[in-house]
Amino acid sequence: MNSFRLLLLGAPGSGKGTITKKLKNVVPNLQSIASGDLLRQEIQAKTNLGQIASEYIAQGKLIPDDLIISLVANHIGVLSQGTTSTTIMKPWLLDGFPRTLHQATALNGILTPRDQNLTKVIELDVPESAILGRIETRYVHVPSGRIYNSSYNPPKVSGFDDVTGEPLVKRSDDNEETIIKRLKDYYTMVKPLKQFYKDKGILITVHGETSDIIFPQVLQALEER
Ligand code: AMP
Repeated sequence: MNSFRLLLLGAPGSGKGTITKKLKNVVPNLQSIASGDLLRQEIQAKTNLGQIASEYIAQGKLIPDDLIISLVANHIGVLSQGTTSTTIMKPWLLDGFPRTLHQATALNGILTPRDQNLTKVIELDVPESAILGRIETRYVHVPSGRIYNSSYNPPKVSGFDDVTGEPLVKRSDDNEETIIKRLKDYYTMVKPLKQFYKDKGILITVHGETSDIIFPQVLQALEER
């Protein structure tokens, strides 16, 4: 399982960030890229891209494909540095990218020449009722992407990150109106994406209401050949 290259698919609030954190405890050299975290860091750094992104994000809309593809492509270059077939492959995972079929084909075009194609795509299938209940109470530490939840996973000191002590923020797009739009768009966009990866024979779907139920299934999916 140590050399996987994984895409986590799942609706907003399905627990992709939490699964990433749990996987990092089991696979310490795992590297991860969450496209939403990259965008929030651009916004916090007040870059041009951040300014554009914040308008889309606040409305629950997707960032145009060309912008997000080039942002993630830069980071993928860093992930796969020094990992040729003759050296030990570092495991990595993507969360939140690709979200459209166009992004998926672009990613394929970036990874294929590096001989670094995805080895697994795991879809987290969480009932919408479970998502809606928890998304409005989540908080994020922007620089790291660490997620907290004021009701079931609170930080040690309310409002501050456990590791750095820096302030947590509530995402501007974690309000009921935007969440409903994001969920609706997700279910539409994910269909062709799932078909794309199903055709490649690498899609596995796991089901459950909480990350505690989902995580063992993710581990099992990673063990399967
Ligand atoms: P996330 O943290 O994954 O929920 O992403 C937050 C927001 O960032 C999304 O609602 C989109 O507006 C934007 N975003 C993140 N990833 C992508 C992507 N792959 N394509 C387009 N927009 C994205």
